[in-house]
Amino acid sequence: MTGVDTALIQAAYIIAAILFILSLAGLSKHETAKDGNVLGMIGMGVALVATLWLALRGAAWGNAVGIAVAMAIGAVIGIWRARRVEMTGMPELIAMLHSFVGAAAVLVGFNTFLASGSGAGEGGGDGVHLVEIFLGVFIGAVTFTGSIVAFLKLSARISSKPLMLPARHWLNLAAVVVSFGLLVWFVASHSIVPLGFMTAIALAFGWHLVASIGGGDMPVVVSMLNSYSGWAAAAAGFMLGNDLLIVTGALVGSSGAYLSYIMCKAMNRSFVSVIAGGFGSDGAVSDVDVDYGEHRETNAEEVADLLTHAGSVVITPGYGMAVAQAQYPVAELTAKLREKGVDVRFGIHPVAGRLPGHMNVLLAEARVPYDIVLEMDEINDDFPGTDVVLVIGANDTVNPSAAEDPTSPIAGMPVLQVWNAKDVVVFKRSMNAGYAGVQNPLFFRDNSAMLFGDAKERVEDIIKAL
Ligand code: NDP
Repeated sequence: MTGVDTALIQAAYIIAAILFILSLAGLSKHETAKDGNVLGMIGMGVALVATLWLALRGAAWGNAVGIAVAMAIGAVIGIWRARRVEMTGMPELIAMLHSFVGAAAVLVGFNTFLASGSGAGEGGGDGVHLVEIFLGVFIGAVTFTGSIVAFLKLSARISSKPLMLPARHWLNLAAVVVSFGLLVWFVASHSIVPLGFMTAIALAFGWHLVASIGGGDMPVVVSMLNSYSGWAAAAAGFMLGNDLLIVTGALVGSSGAYLSYIMCKAMNRSFVSVIAGGFGSDGAVSDVDVDYGEHRETNAEEVADLLTHAGSVVITPGYGMAVAQAQYPVAELTAKLREKGVDVRFGIHPVAGRLPGHMNVLLAEARVPYDIVLEMDEINDDFPGTDVVLVIGANDTVNPSAAEDPTSPIAGMPVLQVWNAKDVVVFKRSMNAGYAGVQNPLFFRDNSAMLFGDAKERVEDIIKAL
């Protein structure tokens, strides 16, 4: 490869890295999120072309063809999955994609080790390189199985309840200590045996870490695995000597870590506790069987009447709005009420739905004006002066037991204090608990009424009745 080629590839890598940074900056605000996405896609396009060019100019035609075929297959599968996925399936798809990054880091690690001739004590790799390989495989393996458990929990293929093995924190600690011992053995012996042992331990460790985290803490787990996948990619970059992969991985790793920190703060959780697999949580049990008394049912006509006479309405959407795809009739109802002079606003909980920003995306899709969509902290003090709150498919995020019952599994998590409004209407299909498996005493309060059925159909019924 000539000096010009190297310079061109370095320039392409720098441009791609700058585009990724601009993309992250764009994604931090509603108004610029689409542009952020476009910049990220262009950056990835530049990175892919440069990587293919690198393989081509290295005269390794076989490699270049292999990469091109792999890229084409990956692109077809990616486009097919992305076109088919429902918005509600996004979190599990993302968890699955994180697992691929983890698996890739493990494979790159083993491949780098075997290709460098480090095995069997031949001494092909120096100590630093071996540490890189070991850490890359460790992070990759933890990310791989952790993401698979997250995928299974988010897609409800396994229970979202935390796995409470006896002495679970000691098991985690033992996994870290033994892995450190295996690192020392690996560097001293250049043998694949400790690498293999550590991989098995890291796979089990990743599985256990995420399995021990309860449903209410899953948002942090998703962003934490996002962060781990970034560090796994950065580790792969070190092993492959690819600067762009290091930079990109570090960007994903650090932004994911920061997002996890923000979510922990929003949910009043200890960051260290969550990343250590729920360390410090006492495994509080679900209270689905507690008798909170009778609930009151209402119907679309009664709710329409209530809304017609209301001066102020707050809508608090949750995961059920995403399942029902009710955002379009909700936007229509909002427009109708505003035409009638009703003050309508939205209260968004930071972990409503199954993705950070899930509700904001849905409301933006349905063209609800940004200025009436408020964060939890901006709206919580206004509930006492609100006439009607429409809780549309939200459950855990409006659960008073988080604020009032210190034994609840979601105790301490700040919630939308909708019960302080004059009237609350809850849209859901049954009396089932929310994602964290905790019953919601809100449904049994005197000022609450249940509007059962699919949220989209019920909102449409209200629009007809108005
Ligand atoms: P929840 O998941 O607690 O509850 C959603 C409610 O929607 C359910 O009680 C369900 O009741 C109802 N529902 C489902 N489908 C429909 C439908 N078609 N029509 C009407 N209602 C429906 O929702 P929240 O948004 O309040 O809370 C989010 C939860 O998810 C939190 O526990 C959070 O920690 C967790 N989480 C959040 C993530 C994030 O990043 N935002 C990621 C992972 C987890 P029913 O079945 O009776 O209809």
